[in-house]
Amino acid sequence: MAAIENDADVIVVGAGPGGSTTAYHLAQHGLRVLLLEKTEFPREKVCGDGLTPRAVKQLVKLGVDTSAEAGWLRNKGLRVIGAGVRLELDWPELASFPNYGLVRTRLDFDDLLAKQAAKAGAVLRTGVNVTGPVLDDTGRTVGVTAETGPDKAPATFHAPLIVAADGVSGRFPLALGLAKREDRPIGVAVRRYYHSPVRHDDDYLESWLELRSKEGGDRLLPGYGWIFGMGDGRVNVGLGVLNSSAAFGRTNYRRMLTEWLANTPADWGMNDESNADGPILGAALPMGFNRVPHYTRGVLLVGDSGGMVNPFNGEGIAYAMESGELAAEVAVQALARPAGVERELALSQYPAQLKARYGGYYRLGGLFVKLIGNPQIMRIATRHGMPHPTLMRFVLKLMANLTDPRDGDAMDRIINAMTRLAPAV
Ligand SMILES: Cc1cc2nc3c(=O)[nH]c(=O)nc-3n(C[C@H](O)[C@H](O)[C@H](O)COP(=O)(O)OP(=O)(O)OC[C@H]3O[C@@H](n4cnc5c(N)ncnc54)[C@H](O)[C@@H]3O)c2cc1C
Repeated sequence: MAAIENDADVIVVGAGPGGSTTAYHLAQHGLRVLLLEKTEFPREKVCGDGLTPRAVKQLVKLGVDTSAEAGWLRNKGLRVIGAGVRLELDWPELASFPNYGLVRTRLDFDDLLAKQAAKAGAVLRTGVNVTGPVLDDTGRTVGVTAETGPDKAPATFHAPLIVAADGVSGRFPLALGLAKREDRPIGVAVRRYYHSPVRHDDDYLESWLELRSKEGGDRLLPGYGWIFGMGDGRVNVGLGVLNSSAAFGRTNYRRMLTEWLANTPADWGMNDESNADGPILGAALPMGFNRVPHYTRGVLLVGDSGGMVNPFNGEGIAYAMESGELAAEVAVQALARPAGVERELALSQYPAQLKARYGGYYRLGGLFVKLIGNPQIMRIATRHGMPHPTLMRFVLKLMANLTDPRDGDAMDRIINAMTRLAPAV
């Protein structure tokens, strides 16, 4: 059989934050990277557009300038609203993470990251819809098939290693038989932009633990909301519902959003249709490793494709970027070894490391999702937790996964012990 010429050392499917980060780090290590993206940039992506210090750390690693002059809106922490209390919790001062978060529309953000990967040397090809894997005789993935350009011209690309960073739909892993795990937490979230001169310039991310509707009397709606000022005259406002809630899959989420917003102050402008910028859009949040294994037959899963959203807070960008960085490190080592047993041994480090880093934490997150799915437990926790700022600072550290692994404070030590003791998912 004639040897197939490889088009790249690694093919990355999808140029979201996970794919672009993977491609950047691979290219930095001198590998030939092909980053295939089905859309054309800049393109919209349904998201809250909020970045915690975890995501900022990853941006810094990519050499991104996160200053205001470069178009970023910084935030100091999280404002939590619930049980009649309004609490501003600053991001913790840590050795391991910066003390600020950021906001940026995904329209800009994803474009910027893809460009950063290209600058580092990755070959970015947009308008390339990957349709499936190319398998060798042993069932190992050695390339991808695709439709390219507006006329959907068929194409095939070859590489000894593929990274699936194709987002929540995970078509690529699905084609390899990797379905979602139904026993893991998942959420659905919707969001919309509104012009809001009063609320757009916020130096805190704002999170609502209770959403109320005035329709048919005063009613508590299921789910949790956010209002993130974009700094450009608009806010990104949205809500999410978890699959542990009785309302999951049985609610009109778009209607729920407008019901909640009808109940917000008139000068915020979010209960006036004429202030809306675009439609209400929604998508799923795959959490707690809801697609595994993260490595099989020449394919590494990164970000949403591998179900890596944090179950505690719905944050997915940082985890997509962190898993991308790890996938790149593992791939560099693996490709420096001869194909076969030795290389596979190196690749087995990827799922092992993911499990070691997040397995215990995601197990706790799964329990948390189950607990707060019960409205009574949530009500008691909110009523008793919110009046205690120290307790809430602990909750912020836990939910945003922001601790120092060594030499941290007492809160860090408790959280780290809890995640170490929890059996990994
Ligand atoms: C309403 C909502 C609000 C959210 N808010 C936040 C938030 O505030 N902060 C946060 O951190 N996270 C948030 N998330 C989660 C976050 O959006 C995701 O976790 C994150 O986008 C995952 O990044 P990714 O790179 O894995 O996947 P994606 O960002 O989905 O990127 C996947 C890429 O792959 C491309 N692709 C897909 N299929 C193919 C194919 N066949 N061929 C080629 N390319 C393909 C897609 O076009 C896309 O560019 C939110 C999610 C939702 C739904």
